[in-house]
Amino acid sequence: MKYEIKINLAEKSKISEVDFNNLPFGNFFSDHMFIADYKEGTWQNFRIEPFHNLSMHPATSAFHYGQSIFEGLKAQKDAEGNALVFRPDRNAKRFNISAERMGMPSLPEGLFIQAVEEIVRLDHEWIPNGELSSLYIRPFMMAVDEHVGIRESDNYTFIIFTSPVGAYYSAPVKVFISEDYIRAFPGGAGFAKCAGNYGASLLPLRFAKEKGYDQVLWLDGIEKKYFQECGTMNVFFVINNVLITPPLGAGTILDGVTRSSVMALAKKQGIPLEERDISTEEFFRELALGNVQEAFGAGTAATIAPIIGVGFHDQYFELPPIETRTFSVSIKKELFAIKSGEIADEFGWMLKIPVTEKV
Ligand SMILES: *Cc1c(COP(=O)(O)O)cnc(C)c1O
Repeated sequence: MKYEIKINLAEKSKISEVDFNNLPFGNFFSDHMFIADYKEGTWQNFRIEPFHNLSMHPATSAFHYGQSIFEGLKAQKDAEGNALVFRPDRNAKRFNISAERMGMPSLPEGLFIQAVEEIVRLDHEWIPNGELSSLYIRPFMMAVDEHVGIRESDNYTFIIFTSPVGAYYSAPVKVFISEDYIRAFPGGAGFAKCAGNYGASLLPLRFAKEKGYDQVLWLDGIEKKYFQECGTMNVFFVINNVLITPPLGAGTILDGVTRSSVMALAKKQGIPLEERDISTEEFFRELALGNVQEAFGAGTAATIAPIIGVGFHDQYFELPPIETRTFSVSIKKELFAIKSGEIADEFGWMLKIPVTEKV
């Protein structure tokens, strides 16, 4: 099914104002945005407009009660200049999982994907070149009832904007294991990409940064023993030649598209993979024995972020040098080659958007 999307083009592109050789993450926004309204129980008024500010009533429900969810995905260019979007179907599905948890209406997956496709096609000139650069796509939904009082909103707005971005981290990351702060509990909303999860992570992140770390390594909330995630990335370890990542089971870990792709590529490459709990105790024991070969975060923004050091209490533990990391490097290489269309898309992951009209 094709949805009818009204298009109102920007009069003048802002693209010449952007230095594509210097793209800090999330600072620049392309010319257009997609908007849809949820009113009287249905999604309607699908439109693409010039990128613009929103005018909001101070009692807009999302500001006060946090019914607000988002997604993040990326587009790159292949050698012919076509746009390639990585696994938008997964983001569309997850968006509805988040929506359900937050008592928000679901959005037809087809609409999500079509809107991504049209916005990327329209602003394809904003897709940067280069392996580490891409067009970051940010869909989000918020409750827009103008009402004070805690209840599910009746009205929602769905928006997609895009942002040309460079590398998220410029160097391997150091992570601090948080015992004082917990990201998610069983029964909570850890599996949802809802705004509040990220607001609550900022103070612990500040404390980690004050100690000289880049990210927080989260533990489970019950025993404070098992690794969960690394900042807003899923976390992987390589110990004794086995790739290990914590399971999604308890609903406290976000089901990352990068995580699932890393796992698929590991299987394909014949890398032994275990989806299981891993404790701080096991990690530090294996580290002392010299068996920990790698640790890395996996997420759309940073893709694969090697972890070079781990802080726990007052101690800092250095992990093996980046040059020795064969597992994450070979997975990352194949992932990049698929994303940029250099090799065949055997998993059917890529949405290809032709940007040149053939005559
Ligand atoms: C978005 C996110 C991830 C990574 O998911 P991707 O789909 O790979 O981008 C991991 N953890 C958290 C908490 C996240 O918000």
